[in-house]
Amino acid sequence: MKKRWKLLAVVAVITVAMYLYWPNRWKYIVIHHSAGNYGNIEHLQKIHNQRQSKEPINAISYHYIIGNGNGMPDGDIASDKRKEYNLWGVHVSGNNFDKNLRGLGICVIGNLENREMTLKQYKSLLKLTVKLAKEHDIDINNIEAHGKIEGESTKCPGKKFPFKRFKKDLNKLLTNTDSD
Ligand SMILES: [Zn+2]
Repeated sequence: MKKRWKLLAVVAVITVAMYLYWPNRWKYIVIHHSAGNYGNIEHLQKIHNQRQSKEPINAISYHYIIGNGNGMPDGDIASDKRKEYNLWGVHVSGNNFDKNLRGLGICVIGNLENREMTLKQYKSLLKLTVKLAKEHDIDINNIEAHGKIEGESTKCPGKKFPFKRFKKDLNKLLTNTDSD
């Protein structure tokens, strides 16, 4: 009987620790493009289900998507239960397991290999990234473009993704000390 109480206490401590840790574990932000010109939550859920039929979660593979006016409004940010319940992402390969587990995935709808994202998308992406980085105290060096992560072999988020400008803007906004 005594043993059982000890076990219960241990389980309780672990549960509380996980409950506190789980939503606060985010350490990376990984940026993607959808590679298709049309996109919204339903569409990306369907694609994810087809590609990753073994994953038990019926959700998009990212935590957020940013619309391009084709499927959802230009610059609108959407998410589903992957973020609502702080579930792991399925947005990088198995080579970077930790970046799925502790990395928030943001996907810009569109094929940024062929064309630039819209100004509204860029503004939303910047705003969302800054908000998440501040909220979870994520280092700017841990905000990455998918294909630039070691071990990933993809062009995602496309050659037209303005990574230099994005990092410069992030730097400005994240080191701005007079904000909250
Ligand atoms: Zn990607």
